[in-house]
Parts: sequence; C-alpha cells; structure tokens
Amino acid sequence: MINEKMLALGSRRSIIREIFEYCKQRAAVIGAENVYDFSIGNPSVAPPPEVNAAAIRLLTEEPSVALHGYTSAQGDLSVRCAIAEHIQKSFGAAVTPNHIYMTCGAAASLTITLKALLREGEECVLFAPFFTEYRVFVENAGGRPVVSLPMPDTFQIDPCDLASRITEKTAAVILNSPNNPSGVVYTEETVRAVCRVLEEKQRELGHPIYLIADEPYRELVFGDVSVPYLMNYYDNTVVCYSYSKALSLPGERIGYIAVSPRAEGSESVYLSVCGAGRSLGYVCAPSLFQKVVRDTVDARVDVGIYKKNRDLLYGELTRAGYECVRPDGAFYLFVKAPSGDAYEFYERAKARELLFVPCDDFGITGYVRIAYCVDHERIERALPAFHALAQEYGLS
Ligand code: PLP
Repeated sequence: MINEKMLALGSRRSIIREIFEYCKQRAAVIGAENVYDFSIGNPSVAPPPEVNAAAIRLLTEEPSVALHGYTSAQGDLSVRCAIAEHIQKSFGAAVTPNHIYMTCGAAASLTITLKALLREGEECVLFAPFFTEYRVFVENAGGRPVVSLPMPDTFQIDPCDLASRITEKTAAVILNSPNNPSGVVYTEETVRAVCRVLEEKQRELGHPIYLIADEPYRELVFGDVSVPYLMNYYDNTVVCYSYSKALSLPGERIGYIAVSPRAEGSESVYLSVCGAGRSLGYVCAPSLFQKVVRDTVDARVDVGIYKKNRDLLYGELTRAGYECVRPDGAFYLFVKAPSGDAYEFYERAKARELLFVPCDDFGITGYVRIAYCVDHERIERALPAFHALAQEYGLS
C-alpha cells in the first residue's frame, strides 16, 4: 500500500510546471526564440557578484571538512548571528540567533512553520490570490485552507472578508507581500487593518492566531515602495524568508524562519519550529550556502532590471486595452482574461506561442499570471503577439 494523497500529488504536476515543460518541448520543435515563455518565476537576474566571490573564497580558503560538514540542526550559530543582526539593523526587531531556524528556502520555511503551528483540523486563512502550493503545505500539516477574497481592483486584503473567515478553529493566516501572483505590495494601511482584525479575534476567541509572513520577494520592490515588517505590527508573527529571489539562488535552497521575540510563548514557538524541522527531516540547511548568505547578508540583486521589464509590459498591455493590476513588486503581472475565462485566454495565447499561467487555482477566477523575470528582449519580441491577441478580443 502507498499513500494515495501523495500518489495524487506526485502524479499531477502543478499547472506552472506543466506549462513550463510544454514550453521546453515546443522550443525544441520551433526554436526557443519563437516561444514566448512567461510561465515560471525563475529569476532572470544574475546573483550579485559578492555571492559567487563569497562561495569561491569559502571553497578555497576554509577547511573543507568543516565547510561541508553538518551544522547545528537549526543552522550554524555564526550564520544565525549575522541574520539576527541584519534583522535588528534593518527593521529594529529584537530578534536573536535563538529565534532563527535555517531552511531550504521559503517552501521549507512554510512547511516547517505550518507543521509547528497547526494542530489536526485547524484552519489557516490564505489571502487570494495566493501561491498555489499553500494548499498542499497546509493540508500536509493536517490543516484546512480557508480562502479570504481581496478588495476588487486593488487586490489589497479586505479586512471585513478576513474577519468573516475566522472561526474558533483558525490557528494562522499566511500573508505574502510582494504577492505572487499579483505583484501587489500590501500597504501599511492594509497591514494595520489586518493586524487589528487578528488582535480583536484573538481577544474574542482567547487563543493566538499566528501571522505567517511569506517573504521571498521582500527586496523586489520598485521605486520608493516599502514592505512593512510584520513583526513590528503584530506580536504573533513568524517570518518565512528565502534567498531564492533576493539573491537569485532558487536552486541552492536556502532561507530561514524568524520567530518574533514578542510572540506569545516565543521560546515554545521556536522549539516547536525545531521539532517540526526535525520531524520533517529538515535539519541543517545546505552548509556552504548558509555561510555564503552569512557573508553577503546585505547583498541584493539589481531590481532595476525587473522594473524595466515591469514598465515595458505593464505600459504596453494597458495601452493595448488589457486590464492589469499594477505590480509594485515581485516579477509578476496579473491580467484579467478579456472574456472572463482564464483558460480560454490561455488557449488563445498559446496558439500565438504566448505562454502564461491561468490562475483559477490561485484562489481567484478569470485572471492569468505573466512572469516577467525573462530577458527584456523576450518581452519586446512578444509584444506583437500580445497586440494581435488584444485585437482578436476587440480591445484595441
Ligand atoms: N512562496 C511564494 C509566494 C513563492 O512564490 C515561492 C516560489 O516561487 C515560494 C514561497 C517558495 O520559494 P523557495 O523557492 O524559496 O522555496
């Protein structure tokens, strides 16, 4: 006998992976330059030069047995010290190394955190639109995902809707800003309103509701937009961070969990994170890259490259008559399907070799996600196809 739930998950790829694989097959037939692949959130900007320099220095100068050896289960102490100091300096939160748990990226940060916080049958609120894997992660932790719908047009969180979704079974909410798939950055006003609802509900229900901040895109913001640091607004916060996008290191699998020192029973929450990491086999994140991020803790990719892509794509698509949510961060553009049917839009675009992701599985129907973490030139080459499609729909 095998676990049928796992069999089902393994047998069916995520829609993003499905489209990404199709693009590769199609490129083999008609040439990569003729396929406009906007399917996957794989960074297109090189890691900052400091990252490779740090890796080379570590590999050539550090004793290799120690460099490649196990670290503490929760991560090397010097690494956790550097990250805690960085959080203190950047956001003023009194995080110490004993609040940090090193992980294999945001996916591991989330699976560990959910396992640490949820008890069987408890609920976790997801703000639509949301990263599709959240459902898998919550269910795997024994929880039940509950979807909260956003404000129409702005795609900010709707605090009234949130309030209506919270029950005595609610243990946590996951907030992702900048958001995948909308590119929206939740404003300080939104964050304050969300925290007010959570505070009130905690008081009313008499138990903590944890705010899980999923932050792989924190540094990917354009202009003078800033992303509120949630620990400074709400005590029961756990941050799930990753260097996948901030340093363009998605394949190296490195990130961390930071438990707020002000969380109720903060020490127990942290120990529960350690226990969840242990139970899932997520101990000792990749040793070399723990030390690389320690030595490049202030480094960031060149966000200007993504901004240039955002400006071109958002400008051209809105001019062509598409309804788009203006993204202030991440590298996704959320576009309304002109007929209201995301799959029909996807199929019509596919016929023109334009590939993006229909988002009905992201908690909102009728939208597609265009991942613009691609060469600028791919966007330029794809524009005639976007314009032709707009004409086909009678938009322009
Ligand atoms: N959370 C969100 C919102 C994401 O978009 C992603 C990846 O694209 C992840 C988590 C997982 O990130 P990682 O590759 O660091 O595991």
